Amino acid sequence: MIGPGEVALVVGGSRGIGRATALRLAESGYDIWLTYNSNHAAAGEVRSLIEAKGRACELFSFDVGNYEAVQAALAERVQVTAPYAVVFSAGIARDNLLVWMSREEWETVINTNLNGFYNVVHTVLFSMLSQKRGRIVLISSVSGQTGHAGQVNYSASKAGLIGAAKALAREVGRKNILVNVVSPGVIETEMTEDVPRDKVLPLIPQRRFGAPEEVASVVNFLCTDDPSYIHGQVIGVNGGLAI
Ligand code: NDP
Repeated sequence: MIGPGEVALVVGGSRGIGRATALRLAESGYDIWLTYNSNHAAAGEVRSLIEAKGRACELFSFDVGNYEAVQAALAERVQVTAPYAVVFSAGIARDNLLVWMSREEWETVINTNLNGFYNVVHTVLFSMLSQKRGRIVLISSVSGQTGHAGQVNYSASKAGLIGAAKALAREVGRKNILVNVVSPGVIETEMTEDVPRDKVLPLIPQRRFGAPEEVASVVNFLCTDDPSYIHGQVIGVNGGLAI
């Protein structure tokens, strides 16, 4: 049971998978701390929807790649309330073949997708360890498991999250904090608006893109009491794209 006032921190919760996850966790009884980068309108809309479900929602706007900004937003807050669940969903893609990839494309993606994980989880982990209970879910990608041409930066960042989660699971398991990864395939969000359907759909055994809610439902499960013996795992939500 998710108790009253239990908090889930959803990083990258203003749009797409993070948005669906924040709404699903609110339905499960969590109050939500919702972080985003700069889309105030989208974040405000999610907050209204969460409040309409009778849950509280605090908004935090910062660039996850900026350690000082993450600290300024969350370090004092977690001394008052430790989040029970943390979902790291913030992420970007800047696709290019490696031969043409600029350092800016490489560094921006690694800084947001992988350093962002360090910046956020490092900031909140001590407070969670003191509670001796919790859930951490990282959103990776099938691209981090199998590699995708044109995504060397993105695949590296997403594979990095899987390694980080496995190592962290070994560190915090005895503190009753479960750490898992959810690895989506191609999901209908703004990130995948330009994905060529005619080329990609034949590769997906279910012959469709996923909905953000289908990812959110698995994340939600991992943030309940039910997955009591699921730890350090990578759970694919990909319609069979990677089997
Ligand atoms: P969206 O582009 O729809 O949403 C991205 C979210 O991350 C927004 O809330 C955005 O905030 C936030 N964000 C982006 N950059 C930063 C930053 N520098 N600092 C803080 N917040 C940031 O993405 P999706 O929902 O599609 O993707 C969510 C996660 O799932 C990502 O990690 C992505 O890599 C992963 N994923 C997505 C797949 C897909 O097919 N869509 C497939 C596999 C993995 P703001 O609104 O302010 O910009």
